[in-house]
Amino acid sequence: MTTSLTPASASAPKKAHWPSGLISAARIAAINLFRRNITIQYPKQRYDQPDRSRWAVEQVFDEAGMHRCTACKICEQSCSDKCIHIDVETREDKTKFIHAWNYERAACMMCGLCVEACPYGAIRMGHDYELAHSASAEKRIDLLREVEAIDPRKKQAADTQEAPDA
Ligand code: SF4
Ligand code: SF4
Repeated sequence: MTTSLTPASASAPKKAHWPSGLISAARIAAINLFRRNITIQYPKQRYDQPDRSRWAVEQVFDEAGMHRCTACKICEQSCSDKCIHIDVETREDKTKFIHAWNYERAACMMCGLCVEACPYGAIRMGHDYELAHSASAEKRIDLLREVEAIDPRKKQAADTQEAPDA
């Protein structure tokens, strides 16, 4: 019976020479010493959010604190996750009253479809990224509550007046 023996030198892992490893580590440390920091001292420091960053949905208000929502419910229909629930009352004279514009933030995937769908620019994707809340009340929030809805005809007329001359 013949037995083939593998030489010990062929199977054993090569030993690294410690001085070369040390030099390599020192070289990496020296390079990183002069690199710009990519981390910040959160929460003392915060990153400025890019203009197009998308966090939670929020209402748009003008300088006078007036919202722009006409209660058309297009955003509610466009949300595939059913995160928006608008409780609106339509009166006989066709004016509308918003009892609640409810947003289920914990279920929102922040896709921005509702914002794109809103024909009146009444909502936008906010830039506040500190959204962790343990209280369940914070997960469903009323972005508008007990307010008159904007009349879409008045809104359109106001937008036409505001538009710069072509
Ligand atoms: S951002 Fe997307 S998931 Fe969130 S409320 Fe709007 S449509 Fe729904
Ligand atoms: S936020 Fe925009 S799309 Fe949604 S109900 Fe108000 S006006 Fe309509």
